[in-house]
Amino acid sequence: MNGEPDLDSLYECARHGDIERADALFLVRHPHILFYIADELRKETKGDIVTYVVNRNINFTNVCIGNCKFCAFRKAKEEGYMLSMDTVLAKVDEAVKNEATEICIQGGLHPDLVLEDYCRLVKRIKSQFDIHIHAFSPMEIHHVARNSGLDEREVLKELKNAGLGSIPGTAAEILDDRVRRIICPKKLSTARWCDIITTAHRLGIPTTATIMYGHIETWEDRINHMFTIRELQKETGGFTEFVLLKFMRRNNELGRMVNREVGFAEDAMVHALARVILHPYCVNIQASWVKLGIPDAQRMLYFGVNDLGGTLMEENISRSSGASAGEYMSPDELERVIKDAGRTPRRRNTTYKLL
Ligand code: SF4
Repeated sequence: MNGEPDLDSLYECARHGDIERADALFLVRHPHILFYIADELRKETKGDIVTYVVNRNINFTNVCIGNCKFCAFRKAKEEGYMLSMDTVLAKVDEAVKNEATEICIQGGLHPDLVLEDYCRLVKRIKSQFDIHIHAFSPMEIHHVARNSGLDEREVLKELKNAGLGSIPGTAAEILDDRVRRIICPKKLSTARWCDIITTAHRLGIPTTATIMYGHIETWEDRINHMFTIRELQKETGGFTEFVLLKFMRRNNELGRMVNREVGFAEDAMVHALARVILHPYCVNIQASWVKLGIPDAQRMLYFGVNDLGGTLMEENISRSSGASAGEYMSPDELERVIKDAGRTPRRRNTTYKLL
């Protein structure tokens, strides 16, 4: 928009997906307008329904050759763990008995694992259970390709053939190479992340999109990140949701470097901004109860959020960095949190079909 925007024109702009970077920066300086527009857009697209998925996280290994400065999860090969196939299958079995419709599998970048190992894992689960497998971040896909002497497209195709249903859009952190060189120097570049995501979408593999905020990034970096996601979504339509992940600062190098704590108001602004920038291309905005804690995740429902993610059943990565919300929310507990906020809970599957 040209000139100083007013509320009505900004709202109309947002409704039509025409918000520009300058408008987003204006909204950051005027949070009352930002909050109003985000809530209106949420009402318009999602009404009072707040969704969640019954799922289980499985972090199959913490052995990792990466060096992300925000990570308190990785271990060297001698000190780390690698779950056996039987252990993984027992966890899936337990999840299925607890009505899970999704298994989310992520792990460290184990130096010895190749495509065959990942395919075997997916195939074994799919041969025994009727469950959606949401697994392997773009960084893991990149790592498998590198370890196996293949390109990422082949890796994605093979994993899809093995039964992979969708991919977590983690490892995005902040999609800016200046920031990435500082916080995760060995991680794939912004361009590579976008390329793997686009390839997955073109192969019919949906993904989530994420942002890790609250460390060294600026508001401009956050806004640019959201615009990158918006452009990808306009092109492919393959993102199921945008997940906001607050940086957890305990027990990690980046936490010791960053001398600030993001408070509730800033959390609310980042979530609201995601709703406004991504509308109407990506209409599912998810708050993480693991990162924010349950009370603040619940409050985000007033700031553009319409999804509270999954029950998880276990969570190891955020807890290593100080997240304290626990590792399991039962469907009843999640529904109570949503109802207490005056909203209507609905269980969904991974691709947002209401169940
Ligand atoms: S965030 Fe992932 S890739 Fe980075 S060091 Fe930790 S486990 Fe490895």
